[in-house]
Amino acid sequence: MNSDFYLLLAGGVGAAKFIEGLVNVVNPELLKIIVNTGDDIDLFGLKICPDLDIITYTLSNFIDKEKGWGFAEETFNCLSILKKFYNAGWFNAGDKDLAIHIYRTDLYSQGFSKAEITAKICKSFGVKSQIIPMSNEPVETYIKTPTESMHFEKYYIKYQCKPEILGVEFKGIKEAKPVKGVLEYINKAKRIIICPSNPIVSIETILQVKGIKDSLSKVKKKVYAISPIIKGTTVKGPADKLMKSLGLEVSCVGVANFYKNIIGHFIIDNKDCKLKPEIEKLGIRTYCYDTLMTSIEKKIQLAQFIINLS
Ligand code: GDP
Repeated sequence: MNSDFYLLLAGGVGAAKFIEGLVNVVNPELLKIIVNTGDDIDLFGLKICPDLDIITYTLSNFIDKEKGWGFAEETFNCLSILKKFYNAGWFNAGDKDLAIHIYRTDLYSQGFSKAEITAKICKSFGVKSQIIPMSNEPVETYIKTPTESMHFEKYYIKYQCKPEILGVEFKGIKEAKPVKGVLEYINKAKRIIICPSNPIVSIETILQVKGIKDSLSKVKKKVYAISPIIKGTTVKGPADKLMKSLGLEVSCVGVANFYKNIIGHFIIDNKDCKLKPEIEKLGIRTYCYDTLMTSIEKKIQLAQFIINLS
């Protein structure tokens, strides 16, 4: 196997922003992207893979750039009727989105694996990068709250991350194996990049798949991560709340500590640069840059900065 490719670990929206910049700097055919599937959920009798879809729609240019998820120019007619039958109307499945979920569910019933289905969708959409689910086996992230333990999507969308978090559980993770070839990709990749994603419910899910954390720890010198935490807070989503509930320090130092056994390089925001010496004490080479990706130019600049690091 040729070693000129980049391997990425990705969640949804934060990762997609970075990857949108990266494909302007690196040939998209040289990217292999391992995507979290802990957010996957069965609703309306359909198989839904939110993070895989966000990355796929981004790389095929179908994404709603403002929202960061779903198709652009989407309508919600089907959902308005589904709501009459199901109690899951809180999940904003658009009409075009539902077409993907129907196709995926159909292929599942024919016996195709998640990785095969993802590859077929990518091919139909003209995606040049290889998008790989973290595992073919089902894993579901549950958030324990004072009133109930609920699927992460329900916590995120229906309850808007408001309930207190008492714990996180990755159901099915013990049975989850990496997709064929992934451990070899970890060994062979020119560089591995952990995207700015939720460290707990996007990246840790991938890391807990059998063999992945161990394999990364052996090649950590070529592993780069971008902090999703800037000045002690998230850009979006509940990463700060989740980190706090697990007793981690909510800062880029907390993220560095969380990743310290698997990374050799860490990119933190300029606003946190005073924390660089503290992170370097962990044996991690640390770089400061403007990591807030508010425009396509800034996404490209961040990607270029990381690719140029030696
Ligand atoms: P999703 O948003 O739920 O799909 O989850 P992700 O796993 O993609 O994680 C979102 C994480 O990315 C959050 O912790 C955000 O703070 C982080 N993030 C989002 N946008 C940016 C950005 O522009 N810069 C940086 N550094 N982090 C970001």
